[in-house]
Amino acid sequence: MAGEPQADCLFCKIVAGEVPATVVRETETTVAFRDINPQAPTHVLVIPKAHYPDAVTLAEEAPQLAAQVLTAAGEVAEAENIVASETGPGTGYRVVFNTGPGAGQTVFHVHAHVLGGRGFNWPPG
Ligand code: C5P
Repeated sequence: MAGEPQADCLFCKIVAGEVPATVVRETETTVAFRDINPQAPTHVLVIPKAHYPDAVTLAEEAPQLAAQVLTAAGEVAEAENIVASETGPGTGYRVVFNTGPGAGQTVFHVHAHVLGGRGFNWPPG
């Protein structure tokens, strides 16, 4: 059933505390933890505790939860001091949902990559 934990899902195991992670933020419905292979000085993954395979499925089946994931991403960016500001030290940040294997998705429990602390190029690699 949609949203139910999956026995073979790594991020469901992180939610359950069965796989360790460096958690930086937790709400009733979301968890944010540092990526084990960071691609920027700040690289945090924000996930819903409930299992949905990708961002579009999450938005279709649980739109309020999708909004909570994005809100949590913004809160992580604030806490990490990477929000663009004319007065603060932040330079802006990226929120990335790799969607599908061809786009680099390797874990099929939706996760927002929150990346910041360095400059970024466009188009992305
Ligand atoms: O978008 P993609 O599915 O490739 O992202 C998965 C991310 O999960 C990777 O950036 C990887 O480093 C991270 N990861 C992690 N902790 C694990 C396993 C993978 O942070 N235990």
